[in-house]
Amino acid sequence: MIQEQLASVEEKIQRACERSGRKREDVTLIAVSKTKPIQDLKEAYRCGARFFGENKVQEISEKYPQMPGDVKWHMIGHLQRNKVKYIVDKISMIHSVDSLRLAQTIQSEAKKHQVRVPILLEVNVAEEESKFGLSVAETLPLAEQISQLENIHIQGLMTIAPYVEDPEENRWVFRELKKLSVDIAAKNIDNVDMFVLSMGMTGDYEVAIEEGATMVRVGTGIFGERDYQV
Ligand SMILES: *Cc1c(COP(=O)(O)O)cnc(C)c1O
Repeated sequence: MIQEQLASVEEKIQRACERSGRKREDVTLIAVSKTKPIQDLKEAYRCGARFFGENKVQEISEKYPQMPGDVKWHMIGHLQRNKVKYIVDKISMIHSVDSLRLAQTIQSEAKKHQVRVPILLEVNVAEEESKFGLSVAETLPLAEQISQLENIHIQGLMTIAPYVEDPEENRWVFRELKKLSVDIAAKNIDNVDMFVLSMGMTGDYEVAIEEGATMVRVGTGIFGERDYQV
């Protein structure tokens, strides 16, 4: 099951890259394995998946020692400051930074572990009230502040687009995030890079790739529906 689904996602990514004149290797597929049992992650790993996305510190901590060492763990969910210390040396990237206070905590924990943590700023492009993330206007000022923190490396932006029936409805969101990243890159801020655009989920990753996504976060499309009852 996971093997077929992964192959199908892979093919759609490939086609979206071709449609938009992009190279396949410029798009990283993050397999979002939240709520899924370790056997599912292992199967995805056997099929070639190396980047896994989780949204809970507890779950990363449990799964981390059970998976091979070359897995890259991506923290994609809202992160509480008091939990940063448990994962700062385990994760390859935090996609969900949206405040200076959180960044300061990441900085001090990263310094303790002598690591430099790649992060993305989460932007709530569509300004949905239910979602975390910065407004478009808040993003550059926060990037400037975080650029001072030497154990943090801003590598780009992330957004969670609204839930929509037709992925075309989210094209403007992805375009807007891309535009914002180009604007910020043009400021040439020390310690701030904009080569990562984490956007697109199961329902809309092909449109996101057409609009410049360099990371897509696909859960349901690979592992099937999540059961939150468990
Ligand atoms: C759960 C989640 C995803 C994956 O969602 P699917 O629709 O299952 O692909 C992607 N990004 C974030 C931030 C998530 O929390």
